[in-house]
Amino acid sequence: MKTISAELAYFLRGRAKQNLKILWYYSFFLLLLVLVYASLFRYLMLHLEGREYSFIAGVYWAITVMTTLGFGDITFHTDLGYIFAALVTISGVVFLLIILPFGLISLFLAPWIEQRLRYRPGFALPADTSDHVLIFGINPTARALIHNLESLAIPFVVITEDYQESLRLEEEEGIRVACGPVSDKKLLYRIRVASARYIFVNLSDPKNVNLCLMIRAICKTPIAVIANDPEHLDLMHLAGANKVVSLTRILGRYLGIRATTQGALAHIIDSFGRLRIAEIPVNCTPFAGQTLEQAEIRQRTGLAVIGVLERGVFTVPSKDTVLAPSSMVVLAGTREQLTQLEQLTGEQAEDDMIFILGHGKIGCAAAKFLDHIPVPYLLIDQTENQNCDKHISVIGDATNCQLLRKSGIEQAKGLIVTTNDDSTNVFLTLSSRHANPQIRIVARANREENVEQLYAAGADFVVSNASVGANILTNILESKESIFLTEGLTIFRRLLPDTLVGKNIEESRIRQLTGCSVVALEIKGSEPLPSPPPDTRLESGMKLVLIGNPHQEEEFTLKFGNKRGAKS
Ligand code: ADP
Ligand code: ZN
Repeated sequence: MKTISAELAYFLRGRAKQNLKILWYYSFFLLLLVLVYASLFRYLMLHLEGREYSFIAGVYWAITVMTTLGFGDITFHTDLGYIFAALVTISGVVFLLIILPFGLISLFLAPWIEQRLRYRPGFALPADTSDHVLIFGINPTARALIHNLESLAIPFVVITEDYQESLRLEEEEGIRVACGPVSDKKLLYRIRVASARYIFVNLSDPKNVNLCLMIRAICKTPIAVIANDPEHLDLMHLAGANKVVSLTRILGRYLGIRATTQGALAHIIDSFGRLRIAEIPVNCTPFAGQTLEQAEIRQRTGLAVIGVLERGVFTVPSKDTVLAPSSMVVLAGTREQLTQLEQLTGEQAEDDMIFILGHGKIGCAAAKFLDHIPVPYLLIDQTENQNCDKHISVIGDATNCQLLRKSGIEQAKGLIVTTNDDSTNVFLTLSSRHANPQIRIVARANREENVEQLYAAGADFVVSNASVGANILTNILESKESIFLTEGLTIFRRLLPDTLVGKNIEESRIRQLTGCSVVALEIKGSEPLPSPPPDTRLESGMKLVLIGNPHQEEEFTLKFGNKRGAKS
């Protein structure tokens, strides 16, 4: 029964569903043809031969002639009648006996057989497969991870217990999937766990533990686990996981850091050797309202300003760019230089005041992070958090503007919007921005597709659960320490393309051609050179550290090839 429903479900999905639509249109066309022939038949019979037939008789005649059955019970006896009958027969042969079966085979039968052949329950990777990534369990975070792996050209296999899901992933997204119970040891051998590069485990906590133990009994391949409950972190380590990630805790910390006006050291986006790339909110620094030239950041700290980020949009500034209070500057330099900058801009944590709307698991984790700094905050939730006995929240519906005003939103400096519903988050962002235009708003997007709406509603930062999780896992894979990435902004490193050898940075036209900017140059054996001047000569073997959005990164790959820099 399950198999029949699975096969039927095939026709309601993806390409088969599209093809079903074409079949509908074609059937409609055939029906129309029969009706037209039936009407013509009646007209010709009446006017040529003086015989009157019903419309049903006309339909009957058209069908028997088109299907070449030709019973011969109703026939024309005039030349024009014969010609008409012959035309109907020929069109019947073409549309019904040739095109229809051909269409059915090519649109339905062939793809179905192909799909059946492709899906083998005993899925096994070739014996010499190595360096692949295995992903156990599929959810939005795993999906975002898959996207990252695809753009990094790293081979991977998804393992799921859900047969329907495995078919869908294979057919619609062309992803390699192994389907089977994760407790099946044979399956682990078939997907070559021992020669894999990394294993990501993203199931329920008991299954995570079980799987880690099973894998450890076979091999030493590194395992990263996403724990659902932060309390279970130790258990997963005991079961043999190399890295255990609690997304709740990380997202809480992420939101907390973003909402405070703390300095650049807390906002390191990426690191290459000693080079750190960090962002700092202009708000609450002495630079607000100044031009880049007036701010003299490089002269005072040695840091290079590589970009300005405003509401998710990254631009490369000129010396006359005014640093708006709502923007962030993206800086490149050493840890020491960042410390120096913090001394210039340092805000006192206790002057801060953060509102947290939503005291669920993530809101609670954000509050715990702020407890740690410590920064004063106020939690608002419509219900009591049963799992938290540490925090006291104001109980009420945060969409009630009166409640926000009474609680003092107009005096708050930061705001974390973290309910589990994106439309509520959009509403809260908009109403809080209206109540306090200066406030720094960090909003959580439960679904990737709502990121833009939250920015449009006035959020300064939008944190998407899935992409934060995926970026953390990608960093684990690439042995990078950084866990702080900005939505829509990527820093990536490429070996200097051969076509650019001998040119200087200005002549390379990288920015004009791809939109990416060169943040730093890595020259073999020495530390990265941040923000190289435009006349720096590019030489063979150098590595470029570039910044851009994911689209611009793709553009770079398209224009200059896919030579990734080796890991440091
Ligand atoms: P997570 O654990 O991922 O943070 P939860 O569903 O546990 O997600 O948390 C969302 C929290 O947001 C819940 O505690 C819920 O009561 C709260 N919430 C949802 N809508 C509102 C609202 N309009 N006003 C106040 N709190 C809200
Ligand atoms: Zn709490």
